[in-house]
Amino acid sequence: MSTGPLTSDRDRVLAATDILSLIGEVVALRPKGREHVGLCPFHDDRSPSMAVVTHKSGNGGTGFYKCFACGAAGNAIDFVINYHRMEFPEALRFLAARANIELTPWQGASARQRSDGEPTRDDVLRANALADRFFRRVFADQDAGAKARAETERRGFGPETVEEFGIGAAPARIDALVEGVRKALRNAGTDYPPFEAFVAAGVIRPSRSGGYIDLLRDRLVFPICDDLGRPIAFGGRKLDPEQEPKYLNSPESPVFHKSKALYGIHRAKRPIVEAKCAIITEGYTDVIACHRAGFRNTVATLGTALTREHARMLRRMADTVVLLFDGDEAGQKAADRALEVFFSESIDIKICVLPDGLDPDDLLRQDGGAERFQRALDRSSDALAFVASRIRKQLEGRGLSGRQQWVEQTVAKFVDLGLNAMSGVRRQLVLHTLADLFDLPVVEIDRFAKSMRARPLAGGAVQQAETAAAATGVQAHSVVEVTHATQSGGLSTGLSTGLPFGSTARARARKVAERRLLGLLCNDPALASLAVPVEGAGTLPISEAIAPNEFADPGHAAIFAAIRDAAEAARVLNFEGLIGEIADPAFKRLASDLYLFGTDILRSASGVGASGQRSATEEVLVSWSDLENLERRERFRSPQLDRRGSGGVGGMDGTDGATDAGDGAHIERTSRGIDATTAAARLARLRERGHDATAASALFHRRQVSSPDGGSSMDRKE
Ligand SMILES: [Zn+2]
Repeated sequence: MSTGPLTSDRDRVLAATDILSLIGEVVALRPKGREHVGLCPFHDDRSPSMAVVTHKSGNGGTGFYKCFACGAAGNAIDFVINYHRMEFPEALRFLAARANIELTPWQGASARQRSDGEPTRDDVLRANALADRFFRRVFADQDAGAKARAETERRGFGPETVEEFGIGAAPARIDALVEGVRKALRNAGTDYPPFEAFVAAGVIRPSRSGGYIDLLRDRLVFPICDDLGRPIAFGGRKLDPEQEPKYLNSPESPVFHKSKALYGIHRAKRPIVEAKCAIITEGYTDVIACHRAGFRNTVATLGTALTREHARMLRRMADTVVLLFDGDEAGQKAADRALEVFFSESIDIKICVLPDGLDPDDLLRQDGGAERFQRALDRSSDALAFVASRIRKQLEGRGLSGRQQWVEQTVAKFVDLGLNAMSGVRRQLVLHTLADLFDLPVVEIDRFAKSMRARPLAGGAVQQAETAAAATGVQAHSVVEVTHATQSGGLSTGLSTGLPFGSTARARARKVAERRLLGLLCNDPALASLAVPVEGAGTLPISEAIAPNEFADPGHAAIFAAIRDAAEAARVLNFEGLIGEIADPAFKRLASDLYLFGTDILRSASGVGASGQRSATEEVLVSWSDLENLERRERFRSPQLDRRGSGGVGGMDGTDGATDAGDGAHIERTSRGIDATTAAARLARLRERGHDATAASALFHRRQVSSPDGGSSMDRKE
């Protein structure tokens, strides 16, 4: 049977492959029950939909992956075929090499069709691998490699760095590689990739005189590898000061696409998955310097800014991408582009500007350079805030009108970069961030953004946005109204210093607390009638203690609204019933995710508590108090940030906010909180049902009252 060897090779390879570590190299996986889950790389996944199952192996079975959203599924070989886009034999060879297995020699593999003259992808890869070997041999050569070795020594690269990054050298001759390939073809014949494969790879190129010449001559060579460590292209740095250009890369080829490739990814992928963060620089030597200094989650783009393809690959491995720039100007230029990517791919993007205009290499060579580097990383600001603060800086000193222009221009800019094209949930998240940034209600920013149409922006974007904003009188007018409505207390002074850039960590903590509570409620929606302590209001059922619009995440808000509606109508729901009441498919998926999350919490809690029911109740109480505590902390923080210089703003109802000071209820509602009308409606509803009047009125107060200097006493309490 002709497929015999391959079939048994297949089984041996599968048995020897740890599917968890194979997939874990490119997708961040976390344990969930007996499985592992992560973002599915085969569709545009937003919540981890892919499970890697290993506990069903044994009995000759092997692990498999399965995506519950798009249906992608298979074993380790299927994963390699689909993820790395390999043919079956190539995938088999790859996994065999990985597991240190010898495959049965099989004639079919090398005798494959090449009749059309076009080199296959595999041929091009092999050509690159052979060129790589050639450059390394030259580097090691006594004479031919002397200049290259001197250059690496000058840069402080030891032999281990040269080895790790496969640094090589191209000799000063015009056709050394061409000659080498021709000679090898004469000797090795059909076992060698065809000459055309080297041309397709770009390492050999046609010359003007009709012959062929080497791409790289007299250069230090940095192989650019795919995430499996296979060379797919080369970057050459000039060794002769007279030579131009300074850096020269392989052209695009069947295996090399600049918009997807990241220099150093094969060394960095595991550290990136571990740190959940990728650092992106601009050059080979910066990557090498970062790795040498211990920042191993660093890669570089290859002559392009960060693209969506990059982001799509990285977001499966990390939550955050930090773009490194060696000066304000470079950072500013790239920030718009980064924001565009951020608006289209769900990954957080931060901008880090290194001090004194130093590039990573220079900075890390200094005494204490690694510490300074780390500090700069810690100070990175998210791309959204970076762009907003840059616009703000240009308007400095213009007072109230400057603030208006700031809001207008920033929103206009974000719309141009794709804000309105974002998916619903993510767009809401951005709007909430902007609401925090500007201290304006989310709905107003939403309305304003929607009223604008994206304009194509070419360089000098701010200048253009400025002119454009000035030209659109109607939009400007709507913002004027917005600002007046919310500005009674001189917020512009408050915002002129220290913007709440650190809000992402808070937002994340808040989201986690919300997820916990909702996860439990999804498992048993009836728990929404559980009474929980409410600050200054005794106890209330969860369904009344918090309003849907108080959830920071719009998806959470929608799900909680469905739970609350059922509780208020005294309808008993199970999870399937709940899903049926949620309209938006994205929110349905989110609810399933939350349900699984809640199941996990309950499963790990069931070992601790007495009966299942009791521990679910306890878990809900704990989750509730987490959320309350977070909210309290947030309230403490916001007066500090928002109220600087505002004096006593007072409640909307005209009180001075001191009413509740005695029992520690210093409350500042953010723009997300429910408004007076909603609170009044709620109060009426509670009264109708004969609810405890004190608790009810405290609830009402809680939404209304503010205290200008509540911060310090809260501080003591925590
Ligand atoms: Zn999928």
